[in-house]
Parts: sequence; C-alpha cells; structure tokens
Amino acid sequence: MKIWLVSIFPQIYKSFLDTSLVHKAIQRWSVEIFLTNPRDFCKDKHKQIDDYPYGGWSGMVLKAKPFIDAVEDIIGKYIKTENFKIVYLSPSKAFFSQKRAHQYAKLESLILISGRYEGIDFRFEQYLSQKYSKKFEKVSIGPYITMGGEVPSMVVVESVIRLLDGVIGDQNSVVEESYSDSKHTYLEYPQYTRPVEVYGLKVPSVLLGGNHSQIKKWREENSSQIDVDKGLST
Ligand code: SAM
Repeated sequence: MKIWLVSIFPQIYKSFLDTSLVHKAIQRWSVEIFLTNPRDFCKDKHKQIDDYPYGGWSGMVLKAKPFIDAVEDIIGKYIKTENFKIVYLSPSKAFFSQKRAHQYAKLESLILISGRYEGIDFRFEQYLSQKYSKKFEKVSIGPYITMGGEVPSMVVVESVIRLLDGVIGDQNSVVEESYSDSKHTYLEYPQYTRPVEVYGLKVPSVLLGGNHSQIKKWREENSSQIDVDKGLST
C-alpha cells in the first residue's frame, strides 16, 4: 500500500515514521509512505501558501491551488490504479471509524491531506470532489478541533496499516478487538500481564487456571457493548 501525506509541515511526521511498528511496516512490509509539501507547488517568489479570508474574520486560509496541484501531481505521476482515495482530514459529518479503517486497508493508494489555520479554501474540495467524485472524501477523527490535520492523519495511518497482512504478528488481535464487530459496538474485556499482583490488585484467578472454556466465558462476561442509542459518552 502506498500512502501520501500532504502537509505544509512534513517535519511533524519525522519521528512518527522513524518509530515502532510504523517504521517496521515501512521497512518489512509493502507499506510505502511519501511526504508532499503543497508549498513546493506555490509559483510565487515567497511561496506564500496562505492568505486572509474573503469576507474578513480572524485567522488565515490555505490557498486552494497549491493543494490541488500537489494532489494532481501525485495522481498524475505515481498512482497507477483505480483503487485509491483522496481523504481530506477535516471537521466534517463523517467520522473516522474502525469500519473506515478496514475499507482504507483494502486500497492500493491513499492520499491524506492536512489543513492548518482556518482550513483550506473551499474550492480545493469543490475541485477534487467534482473531478474525482466518490474517490474524494472528508473525514474527521472526532467532534473536536486539532491545530492541523497531521495528528488526525497519523491516527488514520496507524489504524489502517495495523490491519495490513503481517504488520501485527497475530492477526487474531485485529479480528477480535474493540469496534470490530459488524455494529462496532463491542468493547474488549480487560487484559492483564505479569506480575499477578500490583498494589494489592490481583489478576482474576480464572485467567491463571488454564481452563479455556472458563476463560472464554469470563471474557464474554467482561466485554461490553456501547449503547448506540445513548451514543458514546463524552
Ligand atoms: N476553522 C476550522 C473549523 O472551524 O472547522 C478548523 C480548522 S483547524 C484549526 C485546522 C485543520 O486541522 C483543519 O483544516 C483540518 O485539516 C485539521 N483538523 C482539525 N480538527 C480536525 C478533526 N477533528 N479531524 C480531522 N482534521 C481536523
């Protein structure tokens, strides 16, 4: 899978890409991650990427054209498949979920675009949604505002690449885990490791006994469901 991270602050990704399972996935499995800076597509001498909002108000708005040109450059030069998506990390109606992570994990290419400041000039999404239709989508990581799309895009990268074959050693851990049932309402049972006692708190004895049917029963009893009618607690 090939992933492009489009951001005016690509340096934010450095330690993320150099660390842990993400780094291993890049080295050992077929995950390739590329950084694209829309500022490189600014044609003016000062490479100005933002400007004041029309109509006035506070903050700065990112220009549409360098972002469009950056995405078009990636698609034109490197994407040789129809199996791709262009995702703009943005406060929106669609929330990122485990279901969407599974959908993205089936793609051959994924472009993740991060805004900053007051966001990107609306014509960026107008242009891409008109030209690429359903291949373009806006996704939010939750009902709150971060300073930029970089952290949200790292959330997407981590949740997607851990679903790729081989990245997590034991594939059972991605099949049976929280939110992975069809309704995304399942929450996994508590997990324990050594030692048996921590500050007087003991591992439930059933987990030490080796009786698999009892362990299975305990786990079922101690997993829970999100009450979808009440929604997630805030
Ligand atoms: N003015 C915008 C608004 O009120 O919707 C917020 C802009 S935010 C400060 C700057 C950038 O952070 C956005 O363009 C987006 O890329 C990213 N961002 C902020 N919150 C996000 C969220 N919940 N999910 C995904 N991206 C987010």
